[in-house]
Amino acid sequence: MDKYVIQTEAKRCLECKTKPCVFACPAHNNIPEFMKKIKNGLWDEARAIWHVTSNLPELCGALCQNENLCEGACTLNKIHKPVKIGMIEKGVSELFKDVIDYPITKNNKRHLVIGLGPAGISNALKMAELGFDVEAIDSNPKLGGTVYNLVPDFRFDKIILNDIQSKFDLLNIKVKYDTYVGKDIFLKDLIDQYDSIFIADGLGLPSTVDIHVDHLHVFYAQDLLNKYLYSKDDLISLLGKNVYIVGLGNVAIDMARTLRRLHKTVHIIYRRTIDDAPAGKSEIQAAIEEGVVIHELLGPVSFKLKGNDKVLDCEGTCLIKSPTGGRDIVQKVPNSETSFMIDDLIFATGQKTSEVLFHDSGVVQTPEISPFATNYSHIFVGGDRVNKNKRIVDAMVTGITVAKQIAEGIYETNR
Ligand SMILES: Cc1cc2nc3c(=O)[nH]c(=O)nc-3n(C[C@H](O)[C@H](O)[C@H](O)COP(=O)(O)OP(=O)(O)OC[C@H]3O[C@@H](n4cnc5c(N)ncnc54)[C@H](O)[C@@H]3O)c2cc1C
Ligand code: SF4
Repeated sequence: MDKYVIQTEAKRCLECKTKPCVFACPAHNNIPEFMKKIKNGLWDEARAIWHVTSNLPELCGALCQNENLCEGACTLNKIHKPVKIGMIEKGVSELFKDVIDYPITKNNKRHLVIGLGPAGISNALKMAELGFDVEAIDSNPKLGGTVYNLVPDFRFDKIILNDIQSKFDLLNIKVKYDTYVGKDIFLKDLIDQYDSIFIADGLGLPSTVDIHVDHLHVFYAQDLLNKYLYSKDDLISLLGKNVYIVGLGNVAIDMARTLRRLHKTVHIIYRRTIDDAPAGKSEIQAAIEEGVVIHELLGPVSFKLKGNDKVLDCEGTCLIKSPTGGRDIVQKVPNSETSFMIDDLIFATGQKTSEVLFHDSGVVQTPEISPFATNYSHIFVGGDRVNKNKRIVDAMVTGITVAKQIAEGIYETNR
């Protein structure tokens, strides 16, 4: 991206004293200060400011739902369009893609990262930068986690992950790929080999929805999007023409947009409204423009065979204010049943953790001590495993936070 383009956009920033964008950013990146440096052409200083709180600008700049975060809070929304913070972040990250933060001193402590999604990557980079000897293990053949194997290629240029791998190589972070902890290698055997361990294994299993399924196969978007499991040709032949997806989060939208590119007819059903959906508004807008039909306030009840037809029975829903002030409660609307003849049903209704990694290790999470703690003082957890908001930026924040806490010896005991 051209420096002039980045600078022109940065010049729109008002450098607000109240910093609403900073508060809205889960990493609390110092956006006004960053913009000020860019306006003055102080590119290295701009990068340094960002690096205090974020070491994955190439991922966040490309994939954060900024309209719900920093850009959504930007003061300029009141009079015109927000500053394109994500675009600037991405642009600056491209300028510095080869820059490495080498440690000033080494401490000869061994640190292990399990899982190289955004949380594990950010933790590994930060720990190496802080002087630890870092090793990592991932069950996949490449780093990136969900960003590599589930986020569709049309939304994110995966080449960027090669730049991160180069940083790993230059920082001498040794990675064992294709190694599944809990099957190929066991956590209990790793516990005593390292001074500290960070576990960020993401969400390995799909969450299910309680509907009646009668002699029919249902699919999970988490599986179908996984490039290690299915190719585009597989999806074309595996699924019929008329596909219904349940859910309206990132995963549902990515599934829908992927299938539209394979010329499927795609409907999404969602028990809440578009305004209430976890997916980014711009992604939803893009899906609608690409021909995805979204049915709001509709929930699935059963999926069964009637003769030769596969029928999805649904019922209408409405939203009731929660008495505790929380998220609106979904209620069924009486006599609002409706049915669709479909070919295939895909659930995109959330994901949950797999506990295989911990099997027989005696390691358990202790959230009562800290969201990142376990019953072993040198073993930590992070990323989607602990985060309420399942987003790249939140995963990165856990990786950096735990790294800083380990380096500061916050959890250190007499090991
Ligand atoms: C389809 C989809 C689209 C998304 N789009 C966005 C988006 O646009 N913006 C956004 O902010 N967020 C998005 N998200 C969410 C985001 O990808 C996650 O919040 C983020 O990747 C979580 O990072 P993580 O490091 O915790 O876990 P993950 O990225 O899931 O990485 C976990 C890693 O651990 C490895 N692993 C797991 N178990 C083991 C084991 N036992 N042994 C060894 N390795 C193991 C896996 O191979 C993987 O590499 C999306 C998620 C999905 C599924
Ligand atoms: S809210 Fe918008 S204008 Fe104000 S400092 Fe942040 S980016 Fe700049």
